[in-house]
Amino acid sequence: AEDFNKAVEASSQLNAYLKATPDNAIDAAKAADDARQSDSLKPLSGIPLGMKDLFATEGVVTSAGSKMLGNFEPPYESTVSANLKAAGAGMLGKLNMDEFAMGSSNETCAHGSVISPWRREGSNASLTPGGSSGGSAAAVAARIAPGATGTDTGGSIRQPAAFTGICGIKPTYGRCSRWGIVSFASSLDQAGPMARTVRDCAILLESMVGFDPKDSTSLDAPVSNWEASLSGDLKGKKVGIPKEYRIDGVPEDINALWDQGIEWLRDAGAEPVEISLPHTKYALPTYYIIAPAEASSNLARYDGVRYGLREVVEGGGLHDMYKATRAEGFGDEVKRRIMIGTYVLSAGFYDAYFTKAQRVRALIKEDFRKSFEQCDMILTPTAPSAAFGLGEKSDDPIAMYLNDVFAVPASLAGLPAMSVPGGLDHDGLPLGLHLIGNELDEQTVLNAGLAIE
Ligand code: GLN
Repeated sequence: AEDFNKAVEASSQLNAYLKATPDNAIDAAKAADDARQSDSLKPLSGIPLGMKDLFATEGVVTSAGSKMLGNFEPPYESTVSANLKAAGAGMLGKLNMDEFAMGSSNETCAHGSVISPWRREGSNASLTPGGSSGGSAAAVAARIAPGATGTDTGGSIRQPAAFTGICGIKPTYGRCSRWGIVSFASSLDQAGPMARTVRDCAILLESMVGFDPKDSTSLDAPVSNWEASLSGDLKGKKVGIPKEYRIDGVPEDINALWDQGIEWLRDAGAEPVEISLPHTKYALPTYYIIAPAEASSNLARYDGVRYGLREVVEGGGLHDMYKATRAEGFGDEVKRRIMIGTYVLSAGFYDAYFTKAQRVRALIKEDFRKSFEQCDMILTPTAPSAAFGLGEKSDDPIAMYLNDVFAVPASLAGLPAMSVPGGLDHDGLPLGLHLIGNELDEQTVLNAGLAIE
């Protein structure tokens, strides 16, 4: 515990941990010792993990990066964190994140930004670890957690993994139960592991997933033994290269890495084929209608009555309390999402925005369905840039949203997708390669990741 606390202290400038819980990890280590004696080790016996602060953890503050839930101590445990603990893992602490998982840079957090352990060569300027699972990414990259949980609604596992040179996988929508994960956009939210290697991700994912009757969208699908079946041999597999992902303004380093990634997969036995995902250009606007719409509905529960913060106005009524609580409890980005969401759901605009976006979402899904008749996996860059500087995009929401351009299509289609480290750019910053798989085919994604790693 002392060593861990020292490590957290030494890395406090990263602001990755909101709360360290080393005693929990020590209990798990002790239980692992006992299990070793009695030959009853579990898959994750004694492995200490960081937990994104979006996962409800019994008796341990779960703030979702928001002032609104600043003091919320859940009386229950999320299914995913319970699954990890049941597999023997311990919890090192709760990790910082963008407020309610809304953001791509970890700058929307009520508890201050997370800072990446990486720097551009020859510069000391602070960089973002990406978001919203930025605390998880920074902790794993800085070696103060061997692995961590993340959540991905529109790229929040994959983009921070890419920015910090680690691996992260979002499984098929429904694989991980959403029960006990603070909701952002329920039709998109999905948990997944972030770790240093593809193998570590496979091991962690196996313990996170599984059918849960408490989540109405949980998948009752067989769980494969991903780690045991890992193989970097891709003979007979086809890798789709979507031509619509060659977009203007992407740095040369990123396109060069993409080409290199194609060669790595070819070397592993895969055959590259060009594919077309014609509705790709609508994915970002579609996401930024659907996600805020669902968020505005999910966040209606923070009314000062049921959870967390309550601001009472002297002499005021119920509505004054709602207003004061929400004005005080939510940050600017969350308010922006609520405004966009309520607007696109409002009576006069519902059909023009929300219904239209749902239709386009179906077309995007269909693009992928057709493509997977021609290939087994799809390779793209994870993000259109390397990590950017803190504050560089925080005044420009559109520029920030554009950073999700390669990540959101797979989210809208509910497909498994992973970021693996590909190499460094000319500034010495990590870049990720992004693998998208067919529904329930995490294995191919992991195998291709292993071939690249
Ligand atoms: N950056 C995206 C957003 O702000 C994705 C967030 C996420 O995946 N949680 O909505």
